[in-house]
Amino acid sequence: MKKSLTAVLAFGLGLGPELAILCSAADLNPRSSDQSLNQSPDRRASDQHSANGVGRPSSNIHHEGSPRPAAMLCVACIRAHMEFLASDGLRGRGSGTADELIAATYAASELRAYSVEPAGTNGGYLQPANLVRYKFTAAPRLKIAESASVPAVSLTYGPDFQVIQLGRPAFSGPLVKLNADDEGTEIEAGAVVLFTGTDKVQMRQRALAAAALGAAGALVAFSGEPERFESVSKELPKLPPELEEASADDLGESSNVLELSAEAARILQQVPEGTMLHFEGAVAAESGHTWNAVGMLRGSDPKLRESAVLFSAHIDHLGIGTPVNGDDIYNGADDDASGVSAVLELARMLGTGTRPRRTVIFAFFGSEETGGLGSTYFRQHPPVPLRQIAADLEFEMIGRPDPALPHGDLWLSGWARSNLGPELAAHGAHLVGDPHTGQNFFARSDNFVLAKKGVVAQTLSSYGLHGDYHQPSDDLAHIDFKHLDEAIGSFMRPLQWLVNSSFTPEWNEGGRP
Ligand SMILES: [Zn+2]
Repeated sequence: MKKSLTAVLAFGLGLGPELAILCSAADLNPRSSDQSLNQSPDRRASDQHSANGVGRPSSNIHHEGSPRPAAMLCVACIRAHMEFLASDGLRGRGSGTADELIAATYAASELRAYSVEPAGTNGGYLQPANLVRYKFTAAPRLKIAESASVPAVSLTYGPDFQVIQLGRPAFSGPLVKLNADDEGTEIEAGAVVLFTGTDKVQMRQRALAAAALGAAGALVAFSGEPERFESVSKELPKLPPELEEASADDLGESSNVLELSAEAARILQQVPEGTMLHFEGAVAAESGHTWNAVGMLRGSDPKLRESAVLFSAHIDHLGIGTPVNGDDIYNGADDDASGVSAVLELARMLGTGTRPRRTVIFAFFGSEETGGLGSTYFRQHPPVPLRQIAADLEFEMIGRPDPALPHGDLWLSGWARSNLGPELAAHGAHLVGDPHTGQNFFARSDNFVLAKKGVVAQTLSSYGLHGDYHQPSDDLAHIDFKHLDEAIGSFMRPLQWLVNSSFTPEWNEGGRP
């Protein structure tokens, strides 16, 4: 096999000699019979042995204390991960499906190859979580309790309201009324907020924001044209899966938004504030699973190993869905095969290089797309106590450059919330603050699940609001591999520093969510 050194120094990253070499998989793949200079004689002998198909126990692989190969970026490895994970063969890695399990098993298998220790359930890499999927068996209702001015009323899904978003099969709370045209009104936690107004788009946005900010539910009452909902509500509303052992805390994160018909809106406007509203419907429950893959390198420094750094990405995507231009596979190449490939490459570099002084955890989360379920389960079952996780960097959508940034650069969500981003940039990472602040990306990925429990957790991305987001066209053909390699390459040295330093990132004043 021909040894090829591709694109050496193409990045101009200014990396030190230990990191500057960029190579193809032929230089690194232990299954290769190429006598690479990067492998010890022991390793080569053993590899040739296994290449001959003799399954002898590999006692001569990875002696502790024996020199390990220098850390190098493997562009062919990154491409190989992408080509497997985003292939049509994985059918879009639908959340909580057998395809997600294959993706998690792949990540687990790679971790094994990199000498990263298992940190999932029962001594393995996989961390399965039980899910419950609820299905309505009849049209749900919104019940208005009796008040001084209005008798009890029961509104029905279909003629009286439709669902914009539903996180739970039931919710209830006291009625609060807000005008969506008024700026900056505070949302009362646990309330059901009725939004009135004239701009329908703005009302929907305000309602979704209120639900995200802790309202039990939000209702949109548009005062324009009367709505006809029958046609759009022939099917019963869908419900996202929940973790079987969800705590009240996790369920409080659900988002429920309904849109009222003109008649239902008229009724609710007459109901006094404080009246209790109950949304409910008959449901059937089905059980299911989602899977994380988790690995760990225990730190080499007896003191620093108590402080862990977590690198994470989500393995799931949208699976098979509504066809667009004849394509029904939502490959999720950028979202988030790109992030998974980055974390796998980090695991390979750190697992096969000198052991970091700090503990490093690699986590691949399932069911991110259906509400951060895998990361929530991980948060409930972390391999080290949560308070020992000094930082989490989630890699999300780094497969295409953001036109707002130089090619190869990444942005960090919630930049100003902590001192982590500036510190990584000071150590050479090509990293800036999120240029799309209106999108609230800080709260839109798995990092948020951990940040809410205090972990300094932020997302690295170069998502530039491209039109293939959550479309079947988010596929390999749209990945910019040069950008992806540059982005990962620029982080190798700063992250090497992070996993060997005693720097503990902190939230800035008011930055902790
Ligand atoms: Zn994503």
